Amino acid sequence: MKKKKKLVKVLGVALMSTMLLSTVAVAGPQSKPNGPYVEVEQNLSLQSFMSNDQLYSKLQQLELRSNGKMKLDIAGYSDAMNGDLMEQSGYPLYVVKFGDADPNKKKVLITSQIHGNEPIGTEAIIELVQTFLSESKEVNEILENVTVWFMPRINPDGAANLYQDKLYPVRYTHQTWDPEEIGLPEGTKAPWNYNLGTERAQANNGQINYGIPGYDENRDYNPNLDFRIEKYVEARDEQKVIDALNDTSYYVKDENGNYITDENGNRVRHTGLNSSDYGGFYVTPEARIVTEVFKELDPDVYFDLHHRGFNTLTAEDDRSVPIQIAAVVADPYVDPFTGKSYEVDDDVLTLGKQINVLGYQSLQKGNSSFGAIQKYPDVNLPGTSLGAFALNDTAIMLIEVKGQSQTLGQKQSGMLTQTVKIPVYEILKGLGDGSVNDINPNLYNDIPVSANGIKDPSVRD
Ligand SMILES: [Zn+2]
Repeated sequence: MKKKKKLVKVLGVALMSTMLLSTVAVAGPQSKPNGPYVEVEQNLSLQSFMSNDQLYSKLQQLELRSNGKMKLDIAGYSDAMNGDLMEQSGYPLYVVKFGDADPNKKKVLITSQIHGNEPIGTEAIIELVQTFLSESKEVNEILENVTVWFMPRINPDGAANLYQDKLYPVRYTHQTWDPEEIGLPEGTKAPWNYNLGTERAQANNGQINYGIPGYDENRDYNPNLDFRIEKYVEARDEQKVIDALNDTSYYVKDENGNYITDENGNRVRHTGLNSSDYGGFYVTPEARIVTEVFKELDPDVYFDLHHRGFNTLTAEDDRSVPIQIAAVVADPYVDPFTGKSYEVDDDVLTLGKQINVLGYQSLQKGNSSFGAIQKYPDVNLPGTSLGAFALNDTAIMLIEVKGQSQTLGQKQSGMLTQTVKIPVYEILKGLGDGSVNDINPNLYNDIPVSANGIKDPSVRD
């Protein structure tokens, strides 16, 4: 353990020299506001974020207080590895329900913290639940017309991860790839989104090794919501699955195990079935649990709440971007196992753009940094919950708050929680009174695109 600390110190020195170089190149602050960022050596403060136990007891208190207005269910457990998602092993995944899966209402599902180190969405969900428990006329009008189900912290293992005996939330779940357990031959490669237990350290340079393997849950979903890896094995399609998994790794390596790079120094990316170009393998209980809830509710709208890096709005406007948003994260898809095609219907895509525009407009207040919103970069990720659910005809909104817990800690968490809560609330209101239908979906094209990334936020003058 001591050794790792030393490594961080060495990296600190490396960073210092980068800082000196960059100070010459970059005059003035990188953004407005510029930070505050977490220092490399600064002790990460995460105390204002809820632990799993705090989150669960908060949810239970809220249910008690609600007099039946909200219902709290457990949809499954994070270590339920034997096919029974209700097997009590690991942490529970809760669903907070305002209303039933009523086809006469607009139905909305909201998930957060699919990446354990992205806590703001969970904080925003708790604030939204509290708001919906109030007896205001506006809230009750929304709930007359809209069913809302919240799933806060759908990666509880990553959120509770420890490093050097301290809370160090990580992106990944906690599970070990064991092909024989699902009837595949020993040595069958893991899905590409398997991670052996490393996470980036504070500030964007450097890595820590916490040593617990797991998956990027947000690549484990599949547009074929019924895909279950063991079912394919049982159905004697196992060779297809084995071939897919062994179809080399995501980035191509040479015989010495080094990544092959192109002329620009970028890693050469393999586009086989075992890559982000295809749906995931549903190997995590968490992805299965969320998908079962999705199927039960069959929502019109799905939100997933994330975190990302740092940007300024445009070359001329150096406001720090609080959130990026998106209505599209996956192209039309053909399932390589079944041949079935998946595509987002035009009216679903229109609604997706309308809710994104409404969310964007809800944060335009004067020239504050609240409104400095960008569109998330163009991606094709059918293995994300958003991608898989969109391809099953649900309008989506991705919200990506700036900074992971390693880079921002709990700094600005109050303000950032509002940049999630306000647009979600206004969209639910617009769905309730129908005003969302009056929004011109083409305004989506006018939202500034992702640009001006700040690679290492600890670099500044
Ligand atoms: Zn994320």
